[in-house]
Amino acid sequence: MPALSDRVGTFTDSVIRRMTRISDEYGAINLSQGFPDFDPPKEILDALAKVAYTGPHQYAVTYGAENFREALARKQGRAIGRTIDPDQEIVVTCGGTEAMMCAVMTICNPGDKILVFSPFYENYGADAILSGAQPIYVPLVPPDYQFDLGIIEDGFRQGAKGIIVCNPSNPCGKVFTREELMGIGELALKYDAFVITDEVYEHMVYAPNHHVCMASLPGMYDHTITCNSLSKTYSITGWRLGYLIGPAEVVEGAKKVHDFLTVGAPAPLQEAAVVGLNFPQSYYDGLLALYTAKRQHFLEGLDKIGLKHNIPQGTYFVMVDIQDFLDLPRFAGYSDLEFCEWMIREIGVAAVPGSSFFREPVNHLIRLHFARSEETIDEALRRLSRMAALLK
Ligand code: GLN
Repeated sequence: MPALSDRVGTFTDSVIRRMTRISDEYGAINLSQGFPDFDPPKEILDALAKVAYTGPHQYAVTYGAENFREALARKQGRAIGRTIDPDQEIVVTCGGTEAMMCAVMTICNPGDKILVFSPFYENYGADAILSGAQPIYVPLVPPDYQFDLGIIEDGFRQGAKGIIVCNPSNPCGKVFTREELMGIGELALKYDAFVITDEVYEHMVYAPNHHVCMASLPGMYDHTITCNSLSKTYSITGWRLGYLIGPAEVVEGAKKVHDFLTVGAPAPLQEAAVVGLNFPQSYYDGLLALYTAKRQHFLEGLDKIGLKHNIPQGTYFVMVDIQDFLDLPRFAGYSDLEFCEWMIREIGVAAVPGSSFFREPVNHLIRLHFARSEETIDEALRRLSRMAALLK
């Protein structure tokens, strides 16, 4: 067998998505890979049914159908606080995943450095590797996930081309404050670097926290590539509709990368999703109210059964501390991955081992999500209470 590329030997498959496969194999309640178990808004489904007969069924413009980009420009223009040019400042991609890969490939040469917070959403590691870039990690220090601007400045001094900021942050639920973003932004301007943001959880930010777009800060638009997706906002993770927004010069490069990576995102799904992009503010208020209630229900449930956890400021993820379990003789020597595998088999709940998000040797955290119906969350909590009983 001829040798494969060195590249494929340098990273594993996604642990998040692997946990879903194992969960399905055992029929567990899947609180690992984050996606909702409820339907998208009916208006979007109606539009999808109509599109089946009216089309389009052939390629859209590679960087996105015109009406989809126009709707995006209006919605995200409001968030960023400026007029976005739908022709020159947007690329529609296959999910936020492609937007991120495309952004990193657009700014990095092989050998370039890129700053990545740790913990980080695992795709960023692969984005860097596939672009030939070397990550420099900036710790987000638990429990409140603070960071040191000095480490970021040091990375920029070493010539880092950019920094990836996931805000709200997967997996730790951190929502960066305006001051934190300004601090990062000032350094990016000082060292003439880019900020790549991943804002797919922008509408899941819990009071009193607020979502601030990096691109909206003074002077930052020309230095920011904003990556986002419709997956979480409209509960359509399988549709693979994402996008990036940035200054025209950057987007011109990103359009080329995207064109040869995937040609384009699915044309019929773009057409059907336009109705969602045109929803009034009340839709987003409703979504936030829904997730605020789920968050409270899940966190109170975890408290009741005695599992230690963080309090996410945004996203639908919760980090649960499993150290007390790992200290029990029966789990001696277990990695967090082995613990998650045991949970799937014996408890019937799937989580993601925290080590897949951290650069540092962290083995005592697992990530669960609450994008589930109330009944499913209640059943998951019942099963987790059996696990918690091991500590009594
Ligand atoms: N962002 C989701 C998670 O972290 C999954 C996204 C994906 O698998 N593409 O679970």
